[in-house]
Order: sequence, then structure tokens, then C-alpha cells
Amino acid sequence: MPRFRHILDTMAAYKPGKAVAAPDGRSYKLSSNESPYDPLPSVVEAIAEGARQVNRYPDPGSVKLTEAIAERFDVPAGHVALGPGSVTVAQQLFESVGEPGVEVVYAWRSFEAYPLLADLAGVKSVMVPLAGEDHDLDAMAEAVTDRTSMIFVCNPNNPTGTAIRRAELESFLDRVPEDVLVVLDEAYREYVRDEDVPDGLTLYRERPNVAVLRTFSKAYGLAGLRVGYLIAPEPVATAVRKTVIPFAVNHLAQIAAIASLRAEDELQERVEAVVKERTRVREALIAQGWTVPPTEANFVWLRLGERTPVFAEACASQGVAVRPYGQEGVRVSIGTPQANDAFLAAAGEFLQSK
Ligand code: PMP
Repeated sequence: MPRFRHILDTMAAYKPGKAVAAPDGRSYKLSSNESPYDPLPSVVEAIAEGARQVNRYPDPGSVKLTEAIAERFDVPAGHVALGPGSVTVAQQLFESVGEPGVEVVYAWRSFEAYPLLADLAGVKSVMVPLAGEDHDLDAMAEAVTDRTSMIFVCNPNNPTGTAIRRAELESFLDRVPEDVLVVLDEAYREYVRDEDVPDGLTLYRERPNVAVLRTFSKAYGLAGLRVGYLIAPEPVATAVRKTVIPFAVNHLAQIAAIASLRAEDELQERVEAVVKERTRVREALIAQGWTVPPTEANFVWLRLGERTPVFAEACASQGVAVRPYGQEGVRVSIGTPQANDAFLAAAGEFLQSK
């Protein structure tokens, strides 16, 4: 089968989430786990200043941003690889292991891009069902074969919000052969408050086969500019840097990411506000009668089964866009207090109408 046919078939099954606007224009987008805040003034200023140079190609190696990330996390610059969004860095990882017969293990349900990226790269997905809402690390370790080249562990998990604790993750890593790369996808790391959930970078420093994938799209509020990065053992980071399309991270994205690293204290306050709202939303939902798994991310998960589409529609009719997953459940991002109140009102009304 020609490769483009394979790509068309794969993409036909891919349905990106869509925002829903209420008929009167009043709407809250709680469907993509974005930051609900406007960009920081200092970041907007840096972007405006950078706009003066957009007649030129960006720095192809994103040298300044790479160095800023390396300094921020105290890692060698050669261990950092950037891409236009962490999903693209993940794609490069899948492409780099993409030989027929190779297997990549990950939990399911998890980030919806994994199966798509595996299919596009022509590698076999080994999807290990969650145990309840959590990773089943025993089953994942057992799923590793001599064809496994990579394991993705999404921590906290999208869409369930649950996080794996240190002891569990360490004993899992002990069971994984050292020639298998374990990628800890930490898109939501900044929202983690449970001290028993390990910082993936600690594990990366201790082990030769652990890489950490992070993004500027969530806590750093730059989803629209597309910047993500991998911190990995040097040969892995080098391989990813080699496969990146030239100039993939654009000039404004590089500048905005550097400005965001400089403004981390201000961003941290925003993250704290979201974490506070997360507690409020979860407790209010539980008080209404919902079952809500503990979440360490900027969203909550409601396992609604066949009520999923009706619930998502009920929220949409109140101007709240949430993210339905088939007949499984709904993921709802934490937004501003006003948006969260609108969602809580819709959720409460839904229960009452049943
Ligand atoms: N990983 C996870 C777990 C995600 O939820 C997302 C975004 N939804 C990404 C990676 C990709 O983020 P981005 O490409 O915007 O960096």
C-alpha cells in the first residue's frame, strides 16, 4: 500500500476536539487544558519586539532557548531537544524508532496522539488498559518484549489526571531493560502538588534510559505558539535534534518561551490559582454527587460511560465546551473561577434533570 494511502486512512480516524460556542456568543473553552489567562504583558512585549525580525529565518538550532532550558533545569544543553509543540517532539521519537516490527508500549486511555503517532511511524502500539483510572505498571512491565523499543508514561495522565507515585514508578523502571527508552510525558508537571509524585528529571538524572517530555503550552500559556522540549540522554536528544525539520520552532515562539522562563514567578502565581480552583471544582463536583478521581493536572475527569455525549451537549448548551471521549468520559479543564462556575452550574443541572 502506498504510504500516502496509509496516512490518509490513519487521519480519517482522527477527530480533533472542537470548541463549542453558545448561541449567544457566551462560551467557555474548557476542552484543551490551556491556560485560561491572557499572555503576560512582558511576554507580549517580547513577542512584539521579536516581530521586527520576522523577515529573517529563526535560529535553526534555537540556541538561546536551548541554553535557557538547560540552565533552568541544570542539564547539559546537549541533552535538550526542542520542537514545535511536545506532540511534534513525541512524533520525532516515534519516527526515530519506527521500524516494522518495533513495539511501543503505553497505557490506554492516555494522550490521544500516541496511537496516531505510532500508526504514522509504522510502529506497533501495545496499549495497556488503565486499572481503574491509573496506569497499570505491572501489566505495562509485562507487556515489554524484545521488540519493545520505547514506553510512553503520561504522568499525570491525560485525560484521567491521575499521577504515578515515586515508589511505583521506580520499581517499574527497575523492571524495564536499559535498552528500552522510557519517555515520561510531563505536559502537566507544573500542576503536580502531591510530593510523592516524582519529578521526572530526578529519574532522568539517575537512569540512562529515561527521558522527560515537557511543553510551554500549558502552565507557561503559549499553546498558540507551539514549543515543547525533551530532556534526554545525550544520544536520544541528538537523534531527535537531527530529525527536526529545519526552522521548526519559529522566532516568536523561541522569544516567547525565553521571556516565559524569565517570568516564572508570575506564571507560578497563575499555576497556584489554577491548583486552588482545581480543588474547589473537584470538591464541588463531589458534593453534587459525582465521582471524580484525584487529579494532579489542570483538568478533572468524569467517567460517564454512555452518558458522555449527552453530558457534553448539556454543557455546550450552557456555553461550556468540554472534551468528550466516545462513550467513556469527559475531561474538563480548569478555567477562570467564572468559567468553572458555569461548568459547575451545568453539571449540577444535568444531575437534576436526570
Ligand atoms: N502530552 C500530553 C500528555 C498532552 O496532553 C499534550 C497536549 N494536549 C501534549 C503532550 C502536547 O502538547 P503540545 O504539543 O502543545 O506541547
